[in-house]
Amino acid sequence: MAVKDSPEMFCYQCSQTARGTGCTLKGVCGKEATVSRLQDNLLFAIKGISAYLYHARELGYTDPVVDAFIERAFFSTLTNVNFDPQSYLNMALEAGEMNIRTLRLLKKALVETYGEPVPTRVQTGTVKGRGVLVTGHDFKALEELLKQVEGSDVMIYTHSEMLPAHGYPGLKKYKNLVGNLGKAWYDQRQLFAKYPMAILGTANCVLLPRPEYKDRMFTSGPVAVPGVVKLPNFDFGPVIDKAKSLPELPDAPGDYVLTTGFGASSILALVPKIKSLVEQGMIKRFFLVGGCDTPMKASEYYREFVQKLPKDTVILTLACGKFRFNDIPLGDIEGIPRLIDLGQCNDAIVAVDVAIAFSKLFRVGMNDLPLTLVVSWMEQKAVAILWSLLALGIKNIYVGPIVPAWVNQDILRVLTEQYGVKVISTPDADIKKMMG
Ligand code: SF4
Ligand code: SF4
Repeated sequence: MAVKDSPEMFCYQCSQTARGTGCTLKGVCGKEATVSRLQDNLLFAIKGISAYLYHARELGYTDPVVDAFIERAFFSTLTNVNFDPQSYLNMALEAGEMNIRTLRLLKKALVETYGEPVPTRVQTGTVKGRGVLVTGHDFKALEELLKQVEGSDVMIYTHSEMLPAHGYPGLKKYKNLVGNLGKAWYDQRQLFAKYPMAILGTANCVLLPRPEYKDRMFTSGPVAVPGVVKLPNFDFGPVIDKAKSLPELPDAPGDYVLTTGFGASSILALVPKIKSLVEQGMIKRFFLVGGCDTPMKASEYYREFVQKLPKDTVILTLACGKFRFNDIPLGDIEGIPRLIDLGQCNDAIVAVDVAIAFSKLFRVGMNDLPLTLVVSWMEQKAVAILWSLLALGIKNIYVGPIVPAWVNQDILRVLTEQYGVKVISTPDADIKKMMG
């Protein structure tokens, strides 16, 4: 595992900054490069936590303990407050713990608002009628839109991280929620240009639009794009009117059907059967393969990895990384699906709860379970999740597709020596190591 050559650090947050442009070797204040990078790491984790907190707060759920941590962590990164690298490593782990609290809070908010997800088959392709394609992560925005199109011929389609909405009883009950189009966030430009639908961007991972669909795109919540109408207070009249003004879509089912919505209860109900299959040697290993997808060539790893896994393995997945392989018919092992979609990236908490349940069931520590985590990262929510997994003491996580740019040799040493973090290599080599 190697880090790339780059400036030692970059900080331009105070008037002392070197040459009036930026401290790049060491701070004029005395801040060391590793501390500067660990401050960046902490800020990235806080950004991720904030996104999850935002969605929980929208549903009326807050946590003053997390709020207080965020204030303290931000404060620590001010000029001339904290020069101690170890304290930033400790705070990164604390950020991981705070993120676990936040993920639990958001899961509670979602389950109490929309019910516990249930495994659900989701159609791809279009149905007859007008359409709105909803991208992002905000179920509250989706629900408000669904309420406002009830009884009309405007059908609602999910894109990317909205797919798991189909598994929630409180959302799937709406007849106008008809399917999913496209894959991970970065296919937006082709997908949105292809289908004559109105588009609603509700959260992060929105791309600047192409001219051919810019006038039929709208945003809500934190999303703002120059030249695109932003709709406040969940008033979705303009996006619905736009959909009604567009040509009717044909009845054109897609080539495959997706399955999502494995909540904790539906997986825990399978636990006795899973235990027996493991004891009989019919399931050899579990993998959590998921996280953020990227358009990088290196991310092709994940599809090949899943395709090459032995047939006696089960794959848990979450977040938009699943679109690399969720169209592959992986079958089942005596009725246990080989691909289990836990949902959005925040459903990492479901994965954690399942791992805890397995660890009790098999009476071993989490690191002794027949479970390997293969996590992909793109943006800052994934940073928060990585520190959550490390805070739980989970070791030997495989990360990819690349080493984060803010990691230098000092930070890398901590991640590899203390936590056994590895960067993905090739599917064949990694599977050989993982299967032992
Ligand atoms: S806080 Fe320190 S490292 Fe950052 S700009 Fe000021 S002097 Fe430079
Ligand atoms: S999983 Fe990550 S990359 Fe994918 S849409 Fe969500 S935040 Fe973006």
